[in-house]
Amino acid sequence: MMGTEMAASRHGLRVMVVDDDITFRSFFLRACARTGWVPLAVDSPERALAAMESFAPHLLFLDLSFPDMDGLTVLSELVPRTGEVSVVLSSGCDPEVLRSAKRIGERLGLRMLQPLTKPVTGEEIRAVLSTFETEGHSITPAVIEQALDDEVMRLHYQPKLCLKTRRYLGAEALIRWPIGGGMISPARFIPVVERDERLSLRLLTYVLERAVADADAWKQGKTRCAINMSALCLAEERLADTLSNILRDSPLTPSDFTLELTETASMKDPDRVERVLTALRIRGFAVSLDDFGTGHSSLLHLLRMPFNEIKIDQQFVATLLSNPRSRQIVRLVVNLGQTLGASTVAEGIEAEAEAEELKDMACDVGQGYHFARPMPPDALQDWRAQWKSSVSDSNLSSTA
Ligand code: C2E
Ligand code: MG
Ligand code: MG
Repeated sequence: MMGTEMAASRHGLRVMVVDDDITFRSFFLRACARTGWVPLAVDSPERALAAMESFAPHLLFLDLSFPDMDGLTVLSELVPRTGEVSVVLSSGCDPEVLRSAKRIGERLGLRMLQPLTKPVTGEEIRAVLSTFETEGHSITPAVIEQALDDEVMRLHYQPKLCLKTRRYLGAEALIRWPIGGGMISPARFIPVVERDERLSLRLLTYVLERAVADADAWKQGKTRCAINMSALCLAEERLADTLSNILRDSPLTPSDFTLELTETASMKDPDRVERVLTALRIRGFAVSLDDFGTGHSSLLHLLRMPFNEIKIDQQFVATLLSNPRSRQIVRLVVNLGQTLGASTVAEGIEAEAEAEELKDMACDVGQGYHFARPMPPDALQDWRAQWKSSVSDSNLSSTA
């Protein structure tokens, strides 16, 4: 398994520093060390412009004054040469001048980040790099592919519990992408994945492989691990075989897993969806319909698909106690589940009152911060031990 430091050194983001002061350049290179960034320091605007295409930096730290060319000219020369670069101006000149220079860059169409006033500390440089890692750069399929190749992504697990007995039934695996000191939110990269059929499938197999490796953490008797699956994966006719093959050399079987289908809007070919879902069921996988109530899933399609489980979207749970419409929708989904023979899961439970209400409405399973947040595998093991003793304690006291 790869350590965090090694993983960080593999994100492959490139930073170029353009400054005629050699002390500043070497200071900068030192600040970049062990951040995972690939740095290039050049002493003149000409060299910077010459290296722009081959080095293709994601981030550029640019001094404003040089003997032969000023920083503003560099900015205008940059425009035709760059695609994605973000620019941080760094200079000892008046902050007001720096701010104007930033505006000029923006008018040229460049992505200008907060400028730095010299003298700059190593801390300030590292802060710019780390902010950029987590929120600054556009996440492309190629960047995601690289992170998967490098095995940087990890799984966190969130428990799913029986609402009646509070027994642990298993956990949902949620992907986490650590980068530098931070984390890229799934909300930022999952939409990119879900536009690409091959990448969606790649992510699914990656997550299943990792969940197999983490089985000690989530497995306990008949518990299941839930894995999110984009509807694009259903384009693969042999999906059931592909997933079963991953389990072949492990002690786990398909019946240890639930596949949560996350996007149903793209169910262009309901016949194929039904075929692939049925093949998964025949193999023993359980299938769940995630975020029910938010997509454009047609009820007619739903009625013919072989789901074991329906997950009520968290927006209905969050407003359950305050909005009568949410209550009606939850009631409807629970009834629908009962009719279809599927269990119902409420996600995003944040309060005991919500858990109680959902139990009274005969919703089967609950998940949410009120019980536990998503956590790394080792923490889940500890949580399970603690949870088990607290549940058996409260059972004892309620029967006493
Ligand atoms: P989801 O499958 O509906 O997962 C539930 C999301 O709700 C998770 O967000 C979880 O951390 C969050 N959550 C759980 N309990 C609570 C709560 O009580 N309150 C609130 N406010 N939020 C709660 P996360 O981990 O950010 O994931 C977001 C979405 O990204 C997931 O929604 C899922 O659609 C997608 N996703 C995550 N991991 C994967 C993956 O491995 N593959 C695919 N295809 N999609 C994934
Ligand atoms: Mg899910
Ligand atoms: Mg959901």
